[in-house]
Amino acid sequence: MTDAALETFEIAFKDVFGRAPEGTWAAPGRVNLIGEHTDYNDGYVMPFALPHRTRAAVARRDDGLLRVHSAEMDGGVVELRVADLAPGTASGWATYPAAVLWTLREAGHDIGGADIHYDSTVPVGGGLSSSAALQVVTALALTELAGLDLPRQELALLCQRSENVYVGAPVGVMDQTASACCTEGHALHLDVRGLGQRQVPFDLAAEGLELLVVDTRVKHAHADGAYGELRAGCEAAAAALGLPALRDIPYAGLDDALRALPDDRLRRLTRHVVTENRRVEEVIALLDAGRTREIGPVLTAGHVSLRDDFRISCPELDLVVDTALASGALGARMTGGGFGGSAIVLTDTAAAPALTATLNAALPAARIFATTPSRGAHRLS
Ligand code: ADP
Ligand code: MG
Repeated sequence: MTDAALETFEIAFKDVFGRAPEGTWAAPGRVNLIGEHTDYNDGYVMPFALPHRTRAAVARRDDGLLRVHSAEMDGGVVELRVADLAPGTASGWATYPAAVLWTLREAGHDIGGADIHYDSTVPVGGGLSSSAALQVVTALALTELAGLDLPRQELALLCQRSENVYVGAPVGVMDQTASACCTEGHALHLDVRGLGQRQVPFDLAAEGLELLVVDTRVKHAHADGAYGELRAGCEAAAAALGLPALRDIPYAGLDDALRALPDDRLRRLTRHVVTENRRVEEVIALLDAGRTREIGPVLTAGHVSLRDDFRISCPELDLVVDTALASGALGARMTGGGFGGSAIVLTDTAAAPALTATLNAALPAARIFATTPSRGAHRLS
């Protein structure tokens, strides 16, 4: 993780590419406060942006080349011909920026080659969406340099499309939307159906609270395949009920829906999605009422649902949550795709140092940091 002064970052671009950048941009990683595995069910999510961000220093090229370099990756400059970009052709980390450029061009935007140098403070592969930060900072930089001012949600959708079509991962739109649209001091309520957004004030300090992120630095082997299976299971449950998506089951209709489903797995998946959408609504109501500390039990209930119904937790994530709760945390849950990655822990600020020490002792490999809701993607210089 690299966090140098902006001037040093611009000099790093110059060292790699032999000239000055035309501008620099930043886009953050995110954590999801509540609303897990609801985005591909047309439901509610509620991420906020981390202070950790990926930066891009960029200068355009007129010879049809895309050259990318990352301080976080070995292997030097990766050079690609813009005209040759096509889904399924690239490999390695450069696939992400290549995919964004290809998708922007597919959408009809006149964007050519560029030199791009990245650095990042977002842990890579920690479930905090370093990949979305990389996509969004690339899309924002390339469009702004081309004189385009795309709406942020559209920018996020283009990044999602780049991952779906070019990278080949069937991800939802939460991560990119969070990185592109979040604002300081707020969590973002996104209704994935229709993409309605509301910035919900999320002021931890006002109530003497802290939110810890615990990156377990564990990723179990089945993490990637599981996503597709879960998604397919949710779609099968909705189809069995004759509904477009599990989002269409109101909380009051959950019992009827469960009775109508043919097997236990579909019932478990459905119960998680319907109760999780409900938990998003509960958290919003509490935050709007200024009762932030009361969201703790709702977060914990979300963990139990992911562990027992969705069955995507793992021993390390359960250990974080159990240890935190046993040590006086107000609430805790795994966040992200599951089978590793990160958990979040809500605690009184005064109790945070002792809690961090206890968690560190229980999980020596984990990376633990306090966080505040931060700014979405923006231009730096
Ligand atoms: P997460 O998004 O949870 O951090 P992913 O596996 O989705 O994990 O994305 C991580 C991948 O994104 C990396 O393996 C790499 O290919 C790419 N990536 C993310 N950040 C950077 C960066 N700063 N520089 C280069 N590649 C990056
Ligand atoms: Mg990712």
